[in-house]
Amino acid sequence: MDVIEKAKTEGLILDGATGTMLIQAGLKGGKASEFWNLEKPEIIQDIHKSYFEAGSDIVVTNTFGGSPIKLKKVGLGDSIEDVNRIGVRLAREVAGEGQYVAGDIGPIGELLHPSGPIAFEKAIDCFAEQADYLSKAGVDLFIIETIFDVQESLAAIKGIQSVSSKPVFATLTFEKTLKGFLTLMGNRVEESMKSLIDEGAVAVGANCSIGSDAMLDLAREIRQIINGPIIIQPNAGIPDLKDSEITYPEDKDFFSDNIRKIKESGIEIVGGCCGTTPDYIRSIVAKTS
Ligand SMILES: [Zn+2]
Repeated sequence: MDVIEKAKTEGLILDGATGTMLIQAGLKGGKASEFWNLEKPEIIQDIHKSYFEAGSDIVVTNTFGGSPIKLKKVGLGDSIEDVNRIGVRLAREVAGEGQYVAGDIGPIGELLHPSGPIAFEKAIDCFAEQADYLSKAGVDLFIIETIFDVQESLAAIKGIQSVSSKPVFATLTFEKTLKGFLTLMGNRVEESMKSLIDEGAVAVGANCSIGSDAMLDLAREIRQIINGPIIIQPNAGIPDLKDSEITYPEDKDFFSDNIRKIKESGIEIVGGCCGTTPDYIRSIVAKTS
């Protein structure tokens, strides 16, 4: 079944965090996770496999930081194509019938004009380069995530659409403020969600930054505005840093209870962001199917 059709009829479960799993597997803080597509591909593939086995319908490639600008910054400027192409292959090889691979596109690595040095057109080109590698390597769809400037997400959609006709999911990252939910750049929920859809995203929503309880409020707010499929991926709460170890306050039961409520409020596509693991996905599947 086509991924959008499935979202509308049965709903879709995304995966949980990749970064959290990589740190557990020994990735040192500060090292870009994309290195492991080249150096430790078996670990990346095991993570994808464990999410599929937990019940994820879609796994997201380990290419979050795979934009040319970001890869150059971390010392992978000579491997932009390999990082993205191998990232897709590692997920593709373990995806079975009815399971999908989403090409992950995260922030470009610099702020856009007028807040930063990157012109909108340059951002489009940069996203297009990454998307082209991901598309040619065989993703089923794209997911643009953890972006807090709606302009950057619009540039990513344009870049993807210049090289591929595969479906685009787009989530922004919001904070809960006294003035309601806002991105760090001050984008409001209604206008930003609508602009992503107008640009061509087939599913929109929110990921990262906030925990599952605050995300329930945001999910209901987005549901009021948007008719099409909505994506919600909370963190396992606000991270706590103790003795240089990051912990997340929401356990899998607390988290999946809120995901069940999020689904009951009419959200089609759910998953987890930072701090979530295959156990969280398994718990979601148990409570929502
Ligand atoms: Zn996150």
